[in-house]
Amino acid sequence: MAIKKVLRYGEKSLREPSKEVHKVSRKITDLVNDLLDTMYSQNGVGLAAPQIGVNYRVFVIDVSTGNEPLNPIVFINPKIIKKSGAIISNEGCLSFPEAYTDVRRYKNVMVKAQDANGRTFTLEAKDGCLLARAIQHEFDHLDGILFIDHCINRFETENVLKKFNLPELEPERLIAEPELEKELND
Ligand code: ZN
Repeated sequence: MAIKKVLRYGEKSLREPSKEVHKVSRKITDLVNDLLDTMYSQNGVGLAAPQIGVNYRVFVIDVSTGNEPLNPIVFINPKIIKKSGAIISNEGCLSFPEAYTDVRRYKNVMVKAQDANGRTFTLEAKDGCLLARAIQHEFDHLDGILFIDHCINRFETENVLKKFNLPELEPERLIAEPELEKELND
């Protein structure tokens, strides 16, 4: 397939909600292949369709490292059906080159989605592992939510964005997470 341009923070598609996929057609499998090619070309752990300007509910993740064989996981129309625990996650995003900041995440998630063949599967990721955090990060992209919206320290995040010449934080987008905050402070 093809390596696509990854949109940067500030571009419109990143803030737009994505549409459900009604049928895993050729168009969707082409999209999946483009996402995988683009993600691997950038050494990313995950990539969501809106990041290449396509607002469909599709993302891909591969948390394999080093000499491990590639292990792409394709999520179409994902739903997070269970979430629990809280953890602080230092995250970056291919749409925010070089910028990392601490965000709040659930420790455990269970997700239900369709794979590239249109088959439904359920996957559980626990203990704040990279997969658990990546699922939440990529899932958010489908609703126009970005990792910085979950940041723990607004001022630190603002400085990071400035340092890497990215657009400013939008304070009205910050997500209140009393449940996670409480658990992190306990
Ligand atoms: Zn991202």
